[in-house]
Amino acid sequence: MLKKPTSAYVHIPFCTQICYYCDFSKVFIKNQPVDSYLQALIREFESYDIHHLRTLYIGGGTPTAISASQLDYLLTNLTKSLDLAELEEFTIEANPGDLTPEKIAVLKKSAVNRISLGVQTFNDKHLKQIGRSHNEQQIYDSIDALKQAGFDNISIDLIYALPGQTMEQVEENVAKALALDIPHLSLYSLILEHHTVFMNKMRRGRLNLPTEDLEAEMFDYIIAELEKNGFEHYEISNFTKPGMESRHNLMYWENDEYYGVGAGASGYVDGVRYRNRVPIQHYLKAVEEGNARLSEEHLTKEEMMEEEFFLGLRKKSGISKTKFETKFGLSFEERYGEIVSGLVADGLLQVEGDRIRMTKKGLFLGDNVAEQFILD
Ligand code: SF4
Repeated sequence: MLKKPTSAYVHIPFCTQICYYCDFSKVFIKNQPVDSYLQALIREFESYDIHHLRTLYIGGGTPTAISASQLDYLLTNLTKSLDLAELEEFTIEANPGDLTPEKIAVLKKSAVNRISLGVQTFNDKHLKQIGRSHNEQQIYDSIDALKQAGFDNISIDLIYALPGQTMEQVEENVAKALALDIPHLSLYSLILEHHTVFMNKMRRGRLNLPTEDLEAEMFDYIIAELEKNGFEHYEISNFTKPGMESRHNLMYWENDEYYGVGAGASGYVDGVRYRNRVPIQHYLKAVEEGNARLSEEHLTKEEMMEEEFFLGLRKKSGISKTKFETKFGLSFEERYGEIVSGLVADGLLQVEGDRIRMTKKGLFLGDNVAEQFILD
């Protein structure tokens, strides 16, 4: 029998604002059938007959955009059939402006033990510019309230290389993030996704984005400053105090399987990568009819190997040659020796014993390096 996944991702597609740079699957919450959506979501979750999870992650959208009682319904029903002693990490994403005392009380009595807060920047002007509705003070208020409620495992997301952002402003953001005294930080460079307000502005030449050189300088500064302050740069965009890595995200980068539940959610179960239906009305109807999936892809061995590179090389610890050989039954050296030597000569990869990992330069270029492992 195939081993069942021990991780699950649950998608809440509602937001109280629509940010200009956002390409996630989400809708403005007003007038949406939130209760019906949550019921359908639980129905889909239960269809997998899940009892043993190591990590559970609720993302969005904005999970905390729903009301306190809806949040209670969601958290209670997701965990009612689980053996909670096995659930190592249960994360929920939240936005600073949404965390009312009622919602924090619901989180506190639930099994949630990790909060990922969408801070993005501490600069009020930039927050407005990217379409966020919270302000700097609300960030501090939310972190204080969460700490008071006993949540120590808090992560924040920050975005750098924002339009018009200077190096000094990046330095200020990093200093303010460090002052929060939390164990985990994710830092993303602003990626201009299609179909966003930002992309349209960019096309019309109205976005003054930092040059690539300045962006690289910002990335270097962030890494150096965080490492100086006891953080480990364990994945391209993620930094952790010792032992506080996101176990759920590590699961993705280890290329493990997981359930994905909710409108537009992706999952990976029994060697099949699938994506659920969107928009919400289509998802509701599909769950009603007993199959939420829009598409399924049975991965070939080649595709699995490519994914192993794309995901594994994002981690600082890289890829183990032995693990790769055992998993795919081939000689690593024979198949990839030449490509690896080339990338090592270019200063993008380094080999240490059994492990192959990115250099600093390689990490900055990210997927461009992993692409070299795709054989035509
Ligand atoms: S960035 Fe987050 S809060 Fe903003 S629209 Fe996208 S999902 Fe919603």
